[in-house]
Amino acid sequence: MHHTLLIIGAGASGLMAAVTAKDLGIDTAILEGNDRIGKKILVTGDGRCNLTNTSTASGTDETAALSAKFHGNRPGFPVKVLEQLGVRETMDFFYSLGLPLTHLKEGMMYPRSLQAASVTDIFELAMEEREVPVYLQHKVVEIAVSDGHPRFTVRCHTEAEEQAVFTCDFLLIATGGLTAPHTGADGSGYTMAERLGHTVVDTVPAIVQLKVQYPHLKALSGIKLQGRAHILINGEIVRSESGEIQFTEYGLSGPPILQLSREASVHLGRGDAVSVAVDLMPGRTEEEVVDFLDMHWGIFGHRTVADSFIGILHKKLTPVLLKEAGIDKQPNLLCQDLSWRAKAIFYRILKHWEFKVTDTNGYAHAQTTAGGIDTAELADGTLESKLVPGLYFAGEVMDVDGDFGGYNLQWAWSSGYAAAKAVAESMKQKDVSI
Ligand SMILES: Cc1cc2nc3c(=O)[nH]c(=O)nc-3n(C[C@H](O)[C@H](O)[C@H](O)COP(=O)(O)OP(=O)(O)OC[C@H]3O[C@@H](n4cnc5c(N)ncnc54)[C@H](O)[C@@H]3O)c2cc1C
Repeated sequence: MHHTLLIIGAGASGLMAAVTAKDLGIDTAILEGNDRIGKKILVTGDGRCNLTNTSTASGTDETAALSAKFHGNRPGFPVKVLEQLGVRETMDFFYSLGLPLTHLKEGMMYPRSLQAASVTDIFELAMEEREVPVYLQHKVVEIAVSDGHPRFTVRCHTEAEEQAVFTCDFLLIATGGLTAPHTGADGSGYTMAERLGHTVVDTVPAIVQLKVQYPHLKALSGIKLQGRAHILINGEIVRSESGEIQFTEYGLSGPPILQLSREASVHLGRGDAVSVAVDLMPGRTEEEVVDFLDMHWGIFGHRTVADSFIGILHKKLTPVLLKEAGIDKQPNLLCQDLSWRAKAIFYRILKHWEFKVTDTNGYAHAQTTAGGIDTAELADGTLESKLVPGLYFAGEVMDVDGDFGGYNLQWAWSSGYAAAKAVAESMKQKDVSI
């Protein structure tokens, strides 16, 4: 079976590429290992699919602001892709497919139905309407390149354990990363690219919960609080994020932690000392916290220390704080009898409660993969391989990962679009008939 363009992977980036390519008149087909399209899309945004984020879409240089949300060895690499399809164009694209969107908080956009299945359903319709062949349960295991025609020969394992062979003139690898392996992500895209000569930048899980070493974690588990979290690498704060921080039985979670996790993951891999410091009173400076507590303990000196925290801290935090201050065995200790040492511990913990990070929760629980195909080997803006002309990449498989909040899907849409457009452009230049 021959197609002009074959796309490996019917995830977010592959689906966007297929719609774009077909609309540009290219004979396109998708090879997908799963028995359905967009399996990972279904689990995004807690089943609601946070498909982009409008926070960066109002300044003077929207692309620069959006690009700052992405990470990788070449920080400027996403710019030329994002300027082709940014946030507004992405929203217009979904409206054009007939999928209305809605905004929940902090610029996060979702399908109006708040169901991720609406996104896969709309892509299914789009494929049917455009008559794009989608070969499900076709797991690509081998790619051969020739200087003649056809350029690429692609071998697949099918459901019936048979081999299926396809050929194409242009090939797009959109196989995703390593997160949520039950959705089909197994890193096979990296292996195939490496066999074709590409380099894979070391991968680590990102947007993931952090495991910490702390003796009283069990007592803290389940607490959710609004605060600010700082990530410290070898003792230096490198990034800070605010929002709902969650304590779990293994460590820390919640949007600020997920946002900081990339730094943790990368630096743990390098053997650096990584810790997270939680600020329980981000609205006040250290001096203000000291003044506030001193005044509070002064007014309510007759109350027990435990009672003095009522309404200030989550109730489950108090016993742990008393342990930290070494006064948990003195339940009747009054505020007026608090030692300077214990007070100093409370001041510190409220502003800078530091936890040693030992690990992340791994790919199974991560939302994205940091690292991947080295973007130095890809042409800026077209995503074509500099090593194998005619070969393109899109989505998470590349060494580009986005922040929490809809940016990884944005990268999938933008890069799928850019790669498909580049194929059309290349055909035009080579005067290949479509
Ligand atoms: C739990 C979770 C929640 C998330 N929530 C959000 C969110 O709300 N917002 C956001 O922006 N991002 C979110 N993400 C990240 C986002 O889903 C991914 O970054 C994005 O889906 C990547 O798209 P992709 O097309 O590159 O890869 P994928 O969506 O992973 O698609 C790759 C496809 O390729 C197929 N494939 C792989 N190898 C082969 C092969 N050899 N042959 C044939 N097919 C193959 C796979 O089966 C898969 O269908 C979340 C991720 C997870 C795990």
